[in-house]
Amino acid sequence: MGSDCLFCRIVAGEIPATVVRETATTLAFRDIGPKAPVHVLVIPKEHYADVATLAQGDPALAGEVLATAAAVAEDEGLLGDGFRLMFNTGAYGGQEVFHVHAHLLGGAPLGPMLARDLA
Ligand code: 5GP
Ligand code: ZN
Repeated sequence: MGSDCLFCRIVAGEIPATVVRETATTLAFRDIGPKAPVHVLVIPKEHYADVATLAQGDPALAGEVLATAAAVAEDEGLLGDGFRLMFNTGAYGGQEVFHVHAHLLGGAPLGPMLARDLA
């Protein structure tokens, strides 16, 4: 991947982002269109298309993404009131950027898990 992938370009510093935490293997930055008072995207620096590919290909790296998300949740003061961590995946999941990212959402009550009851 690389130049074709928006989030690889953010990792490379080619596109600016408001970075809130960086580790050797992960990056966390604020979503450009926040859906909650806190809306941070957490990604592995290495390119994986989605959470299934990441978890199957490198489970340890998937764990590092979760650990970074937890550290950001703590930094942002979300641990007391809670938060939501979400991986949109594929067409039905509404994924738009195909470099795996966890959405960390919080800072206000987030409402129901889904806008509509699809069951
Ligand atoms: P998805 O729908 O793939 O789960 O989420 C993609 C997210 O990336 C969206 O919430 C969108 O606002 C965010 N996004 C898209 N382009 C950019 C960008 O250039 N910079 C940042 N920081 N976020 C972006
Ligand atoms: Zn990428």
